[in-house]
Amino acid sequence: MEYYDLHCDTIGECFNTGKALFSNDMHISLEKAEIFDAYVQVFAIWIPDVMRGEEALDHFEKCADYYYEQLKINGAYMKKHAITPILSVEGGAVLGGSLSKLYRLHDRGVKLMTLTWNSSNEIASGSHETGGGLTAFGKEVVKEMNKLKMTVDVSHLNRKSFFDVARCTDKPFIASHSNLDDPRVPIGALRSLSLEQAREIINRRGLIGINFCKDFLQREGEDCFEAVYRRICEICEPGGENAVAFGSDFDGCKIDEKLNSIDKIPALYDFLHSKGFNEDFLNKLSYQNAKNFFKFCNA
Ligand SMILES: [Zn+2]
Repeated sequence: MEYYDLHCDTIGECFNTGKALFSNDMHISLEKAEIFDAYVQVFAIWIPDVMRGEEALDHFEKCADYYYEQLKINGAYMKKHAITPILSVEGGAVLGGSLSKLYRLHDRGVKLMTLTWNSSNEIASGSHETGGGLTAFGKEVVKEMNKLKMTVDVSHLNRKSFFDVARCTDKPFIASHSNLDDPRVPIGALRSLSLEQAREIINRRGLIGINFCKDFLQREGEDCFEAVYRRICEICEPGGENAVAFGSDFDGCKIDEKLNSIDKIPALYDFLHSKGFNEDFLNKLSYQNAKNFFKFCNA
């Protein structure tokens, strides 16, 4: 099978712990990825909310150095197994309020940026804040990202910021690792999408990546694979069969044992097949939807 994953925190974890990308005891290692016919992984560099200004950019630079070093070491292996990495930043605080830093990110090969993490920054308000929204600087950032063909990622934004982004641009954007809220059974996931938000993403041909994080995915006592199935159906229901993808959040959160490693994805695929999804849809979900989006956006 082919697998396209819109979000993981593996690079930051490797950087912090000194573990190698090829072989480790984490959710993602390159050696485990040889099971796929093709594999695209968005590697996010996470900017924690305690980091702002120069410290945030400095952290990004160090993680990016590490990322490119790992790609160099594993280049031949990745080519052999059709493994394609994409660099992203999770937290627009990395810009420190300066547009020139966006060009720096672009030069370093960053293709996507999640505008905030949970708190507010110079760009917008995150999911743990009420009110706020996209700032004047944030609007400039979104417009410039559009020009540079960098993808805007709205995961972690609060509702106000989300709709400010939607008003600010008519280009597609993505929620790389966000599930839908289920108003009937709230599971306390502050940053899950409302149906209205999902519709907005779907209508503008963006992507929604299913997040495997236990707290965002499963109801109390619910089987993990059943929960993924339900989450996919929730996005397909309002017409999202071309928008739904995976955004695992591997190495960034607690994931059920059934799915806490990249080599468990084929078992999930088989399960979803047994639930009645046909191969055509499964290929769109696990690879083609994301592939089409980035081709379309030139990312
Ligand atoms: Zn995240």
